[in-house]
Amino acid sequence: MNYKTIVGLETHIELNTEQKMFCGCSAVYFGAKPNRHVCPVCLGLPGALPVPNYQAIEWTVLLGLALHCQINLQSFFERKHYFYPDLVKGYQISQYQQPLAQNGYLKVNGRKIRINRVHLEEDTGKLLHGEQFQDMGSYVDFNRSGVPLVEIVTEPEIESAKEAADYLKALQLTVQYLGVSDCDMEKGSMRCEPNISVLKALDWQEHHVLPNYKVEVKNINSFRYVKQAIEFETKRQILLLEQKQTPKQETRRYIESKKTTENMRTKEVAQDYRYFPEPDIPPIVFLPDQIESLKQKLNSLESPQKRQIDLEKNYQLNPTVAWQLTENKDLGDRYLKLVAFNKELDRPKLANLLINRKVDLTLPDSEIVKQAQSLLAKKTIAPEQLTQTVAQIIKNNPKAVADYQKGKQTALQFLLGQCLRILGRQIEVEDLKEILSKQLRLVK
Ligand code: ZN
Ligand code: MN
Repeated sequence: MNYKTIVGLETHIELNTEQKMFCGCSAVYFGAKPNRHVCPVCLGLPGALPVPNYQAIEWTVLLGLALHCQINLQSFFERKHYFYPDLVKGYQISQYQQPLAQNGYLKVNGRKIRINRVHLEEDTGKLLHGEQFQDMGSYVDFNRSGVPLVEIVTEPEIESAKEAADYLKALQLTVQYLGVSDCDMEKGSMRCEPNISVLKALDWQEHHVLPNYKVEVKNINSFRYVKQAIEFETKRQILLLEQKQTPKQETRRYIESKKTTENMRTKEVAQDYRYFPEPDIPPIVFLPDQIESLKQKLNSLESPQKRQIDLEKNYQLNPTVAWQLTENKDLGDRYLKLVAFNKELDRPKLANLLINRKVDLTLPDSEIVKQAQSLLAKKTIAPEQLTQTVAQIIKNNPKAVADYQKGKQTALQFLLGQCLRILGRQIEVEDLKEILSKQLRLVK
């Protein structure tokens, strides 16, 4: 029997604003000691009132525009209620009826994946437990509590594990180029939850009706795990369907070590959250002009597509190399900086050095340029120049040569050093050593 996997993705992205979503606390908390970035607002103390972060709202609209969404000129925050120890107020300030943006799409491998909504909310705190506390209970760190979080929800129309991973990669790139988040899945600034269901391929072709259940998977922190989780769920659900059972509507947790998922809880539905408009924050109202100027801003920003074209046209890079410096934005940024720093460098060759990590990227630009220059100059030393240099050094250092002939290895190192001083380290030491040894054998 042929089956079809249907996936909808919910992705949470932490915005890299300086301040949190509803208070003045620093949102730059990564690596900080627990509970140092907190105040009465993000600790949910009685009487503390939230004040929205305008930057976060503007960036969410910008992302909405980049995802070809319709921007709602009027939207508002709502309270989403649930209980968990990392949620101080007993509710999360989020958006429900009227998100900032909706009905967009993201192109993935030429196919449009429709975006249902893009809304803004606040992050929760984080539970800490395990070995670091000798497995004695759980502790809560509220540094993350109240950090602005954008949620992007697709329509359930992603058709494979690979397409899900490709969508996430495309979304990550879009956001990174907007400069509104680093989208680092390992650090948790990008998190995704696939909603997976499976149905018979024929049923899908004939009726185009989604299954009446979906399984949400949490706890995924890499592109690879997204793929593995979807692959596992597909197999698990097919097995159930083959036994004429309908998979349960539930929330499951991904277990990295076993590449499987396990039940966490039954899945909530919207009414469980008792959403209602946040009374402490007035509605958000945009004027069409404000959206227009954000559109212009978006057009002025670099995008992955623009960079790819620029690298091919103006840097003479082939499409594959250009893509490598586009999809790894940090590496591409560094490349562009280095070329601007030294315009003489061979651009395609410099690109290869960076991609193959032949230069030390932890060094300042000036040092990398020097490294690149000497690496690229290597092949321009003529063989005659090499032999001449070696001959010269042998002639000038009779004592070292004599020592070498007596079996002193340090003498060889000395002679090698003398050659390198003249050649300026533009050659692989091993090659030079070979030429030197060869010539030394000929010395009478
Ligand atoms: Zn705070
Ligand atoms: Mn959310």
